[in-house]
Amino acid sequence: MTERYNLTVNTGREKDQSFVEKESAVIEGIDVSGRWNRMFVPREIQDYDLTNMHKLTAIPGAESMGWCYQCAQCMPACPVDTAGGDYGPRKIFRRLELGMDLLDSRDLWLCTTCANCLRVCPKEVDMIKIMPVARAAAVLEGNVPAELLEMFQNVAEYGNPMGQSARKRAAWIRKSDAEIRVLPKDPGPVDVLWFVGDFYAYHGRGVDAANAMARVFNALDVDFGVLGADERTDGDSQRLAGEPGLYEELAEHNIEQFKQHEHERIVVSGPHAYNAIKNEYPAMGGEFEVEHYTQFLADQIDELKPLLTGSFGNRKVTFHDPCYLGRHNGEYDAPRDLLEAVPDLDLIEMYRCKEQGYCCGGGGGGMWLDGFAAEQQSERLSENRVKEAVMVGADVLAVCCPYEVSRFEDAVKSTNNDGKLEVLDIIEILDQCMGA
Ligand code: SF4
Ligand code: SF4
Repeated sequence: MTERYNLTVNTGREKDQSFVEKESAVIEGIDVSGRWNRMFVPREIQDYDLTNMHKLTAIPGAESMGWCYQCAQCMPACPVDTAGGDYGPRKIFRRLELGMDLLDSRDLWLCTTCANCLRVCPKEVDMIKIMPVARAAAVLEGNVPAELLEMFQNVAEYGNPMGQSARKRAAWIRKSDAEIRVLPKDPGPVDVLWFVGDFYAYHGRGVDAANAMARVFNALDVDFGVLGADERTDGDSQRLAGEPGLYEELAEHNIEQFKQHEHERIVVSGPHAYNAIKNEYPAMGGEFEVEHYTQFLADQIDELKPLLTGSFGNRKVTFHDPCYLGRHNGEYDAPRDLLEAVPDLDLIEMYRCKEQGYCCGGGGGGMWLDGFAAEQQSERLSENRVKEAVMVGADVLAVCCPYEVSRFEDAVKSTNNDGKLEVLDIIEILDQCMGA
């Protein structure tokens, strides 16, 4: 007698899984009747339409998406999933198996390229390579969220994502109380070419940090100059968000500017500019000595310490590791060395720090996708992080990425932590305690 069963496997698709059993069977003298001799027809476990998987993995750079073996190591590491985004490489792979076209999916835009999944993935499924090339293909197909498209247009037209005029980039310098040499107007060799960056130049809270940096440089007698209105966005976020052509234009422009002014090193305000100039510009013909400002100042800690005469009032400070300074470029010590040099500052760590640091949500184009992400997640990544800072008892959340002050200040408000947690750039903390 033969019985036939239909089993539903957890893909949600019904499979014709059948088995055969004999009502009576004696094998080598042993009675194995009924269910004891049940023989399963081999299950088809890869009976999927993989057209869209192959469409993705055929894009140069996206091959590793096909290497996933569903171990799920990446899931607790993914900050988007932690923030309720129903997300992560494992889920993306599974959805591709079930027919999702990533190039036409919300999943394409949620990854912040934070690299926390890559840190733990045994198969080296590399979202940092997959996302930019997949997004570039989607942009060519015209699939791009409106917020991101607006940012691309602003950068193409004005050289900055805010859509402000290029001339206004130098406005903060004219109002600054610090001495700042603008190289195109006052050419000549300098030790440091300071790449100021968009948020320091245009955003209100960024301008506070820019002024603080200039004052600290002045106090340390740093021989520095800036490009003023000749600077453009570094291009890293545009590259990661799927506009490689725009990135190349920006990189070419900035490399040309760097070559025009004799300097020993470039010091940058932000981790994204650091990543671009250190890791990406060389392929465009731009090899430069580059340091993040925390690295440059930490190298001068002996000169800096005697200048830090003010007290920080025994406030508890916790530091948020930016993904593109920490995980992407391995720098965890310099920011902490600076904070530890501040008198009466109590440095405490959050649970997720250093290699395991949690992402603020601003990387990989996420800075311009807050509205889009908010519709997909139960909270913003910056809100999740602010809650953690409050949980460990911090009075101050210290940052060293220009994106983060505004992101976290918004999150402090939206999580009702106004008055409980202050967000400060490390350079502002140093400036506050200098000569006070
Ligand atoms: S850690 Fe890597 S192999 Fe494991 S589920 Fe995630 S992407 Fe797949
Ligand atoms: S890079 Fe970060 S945000 Fe993107 S999938 Fe991996 S863990 Fe999630």
